[in-house]
Amino acid sequence: MNINNSCSIYLYLLKYSINKMLVHSYIVNFGIIKNYFFCDFIYKKNIKTKNIYDIEKNILNLNTLNKKILKFNIDNINLLKYFKNNKNIYSYNNLKKYTKSNIIYFIYKIDNFIDISLREFNFNININNLNIEKKIYQTWYKNKIIYRICGNEKNTLDIIKNNNNIKKNKFNKLYYIFKESPGMIFWNNNGVIIFNELEKYITEKLFLYDNYFKVKTPIILNSSLWNKTKHSIFYSKNIYNLVINNINYYIKPMNCPCHIKFFLKEVKSYKDLPYRILEFGNCHRNESSGSLHNLMRTRSFFQDDTHIFCSEKDLENEIIKSINIIFEVYNIFNFKNIDIFLSTRPNIKIGNEDIWNNSENIIKNILNKKKIIFNINCGNGAFYGPKIEFVLKDLYNRSWQCGTIQLDFFTSKNLDASYIDNNNNKKFPIIIHRAILGSIERFIGIISNHYLNKYPLWLSPIQIIILSITEKQIDYVKKIFKKILFLKIRVKIDIRNKTLNYKIREHKLNNIPYIIICGEKEKKNKKITIKSINNINYYLISLNKFLKKIIKEINLKKHNEIFNG
Ligand SMILES: [Zn+2]
Repeated sequence: MNINNSCSIYLYLLKYSINKMLVHSYIVNFGIIKNYFFCDFIYKKNIKTKNIYDIEKNILNLNTLNKKILKFNIDNINLLKYFKNNKNIYSYNNLKKYTKSNIIYFIYKIDNFIDISLREFNFNININNLNIEKKIYQTWYKNKIIYRICGNEKNTLDIIKNNNNIKKNKFNKLYYIFKESPGMIFWNNNGVIIFNELEKYITEKLFLYDNYFKVKTPIILNSSLWNKTKHSIFYSKNIYNLVINNINYYIKPMNCPCHIKFFLKEVKSYKDLPYRILEFGNCHRNESSGSLHNLMRTRSFFQDDTHIFCSEKDLENEIIKSINIIFEVYNIFNFKNIDIFLSTRPNIKIGNEDIWNNSENIIKNILNKKKIIFNINCGNGAFYGPKIEFVLKDLYNRSWQCGTIQLDFFTSKNLDASYIDNNNNKKFPIIIHRAILGSIERFIGIISNHYLNKYPLWLSPIQIIILSITEKQIDYVKKIFKKILFLKIRVKIDIRNKTLNYKIREHKLNNIPYIIICGEKEKKNKKITIKSINNINYYLISLNKFLKKIIKEINLKKHNEIFNG
């Protein structure tokens, strides 16, 4: 079966169903990327997960497609005539602009919904293989919310994975989710390696930039603390609470109050500012079960969370530095396509309008000064202040909010966290809440897609594998293994009694960046032969020369050359 044919039909039926089920919705964009299809639209009401279930049900009920869909072909002159009289998702002017003469178009019609294609669809497909994602994606364009509904074909998942050379075997698996803790991740060894590499990278990056204090704080805190910060009012729906010995505790949904505790202990005067705290903090939020989505939306997650306590004088400089750091980090992961949003005051908020006007203007001015193009996301700020949001696009062009910089003029007052300024007056610091990767779980989900599981060397769970050709080279393999292990490179050996081609094929499928081959020639000459995932091969080179090259590659966090981002 032609996969694209099925996706074309699914997309057509999705457009038809959105048009039918969401009255007055307006389709603005749609497409097929690999074996994934999507439709973007504007809709004045809020989309709920139930709407998506209804849309899928509507498509599945169209079981005898051949009878229901009217199909005819038409040339461009007649096409324009036809559409002049029929209102549709395509504007007449656009059709005039993009259609060409001497081409036959196909028109498909169900009820009053008409679609055009250059291709003739084969409707002989199994509609039950349709999989619509039960998640609401939304993004903003020119102050309008654009919704996306997307999907793929169920039994083509294996084909997709093989096409992408992704073998979802035990080796490539990073985590599990069990029904006993929905929305929470059990990382396996590979997942922990990637997680730890990310934490190490962000920590080292920040320590090089400025003076940061890295902390670890508890996840269970007395509810009185959350009453003072007002989280218990604005966030109550999402907080897990526990009552132990008649005392009410919350499992922290964010790390801010814990970091303020450090400020209260360690900061006395303006000389201690800016005071920057970093934590890879474990937060829990009780998200609805319908919104859970593997690594992308979880109930328990770690955040690379920073709180910067500063005076007004330092504020602009600290925000600019944070923006620079975020762009530098995203560049390391080869993310080029980043959307920036300024999220402004929500309806339910604390503080007066003057402070909100001031803080929104501070962000606007900085973004303009740095010539950063941004969209305004009205009403989506935090209850304590406006935020800059950094949205990354994954391989499937889906948007994911990762980085955030939030201004907060209120929380330090609520917790009486003050300092003495240079005139001996009591002052409250402004708090910048910042995350670069955001949820580490989500970030790993995004990069797994982005890299198609072929991680760059520095992130790869196994960096090198050493193969013997026969059992005569086992000693030589073990000797090299020890040398490499000593350099803290993640290395394994494969001395199984299998053919060399079998072993190479298996490790290439497992996306091992470098395969070292040790045969008799290599052993005799005290050299090695390399096969890399980039298909750059080295024949009989010295181990030291190779190790120098890969240590450099790890330290520079080089992108894998086969990916263009
Ligand atoms: Zn915070």
